[in-house]
Amino acid sequence: MSLGWSRRAPVDTLVGTEAAIDFTIPLKDLPRVSRELTASDGEAKGHVRFSRQSGQAVADLDVRAQPEVVCQRCMQAMHWPVHLKSRVALVSDYNAADRVPDGLEVFLVEADSVSVRDLVDEEILLALPNVARHAEGSECADSQVQLPGHEADTQDAADSQVQKPFAQLGELLKRK
Ligand SMILES: [Zn+2]
Repeated sequence: MSLGWSRRAPVDTLVGTEAAIDFTIPLKDLPRVSRELTASDGEAKGHVRFSRQSGQAVADLDVRAQPEVVCQRCMQAMHWPVHLKSRVALVSDYNAADRVPDGLEVFLVEADSVSVRDLVDEEILLALPNVARHAEGSECADSQVQLPGHEADTQDAADSQVQKPFAQLGELLKRK
């Protein structure tokens, strides 16, 4: 059985045959991801294998992509490297989702069928940053360019709260 990445197939069939699929999907063909990107070129490459683990239908997904997003500091396009390996539980309703073991991601299957495109679209979407930025130490981080109308200071303060989990830990330790 030959299965392309765009074709939907019953989950029971995919799992029952332990279907393994290599894929190369143009990012422009990922409906939700493509809406988040500034450029439509590039592709997602990877491999998926369906199986049943402890009674649960799962997809082991390995995917790499370099979607283009806009750095929110310098407003230039940048490639955001995505390489994820995840085990995704394929569930048909929210009750089943509650029973999924920890450590698995959950994908809600519509009408008992799924395509590799659906899975990859969702997983890359989750991997995209809320606020994309070039790495610290890069040119745009060093230069103090103040864009007109851009409140860099307030934005940085808000972000640093989100990006310093250990600051909170420090607060917790102080309370002891
Ligand atoms: Zn930048």
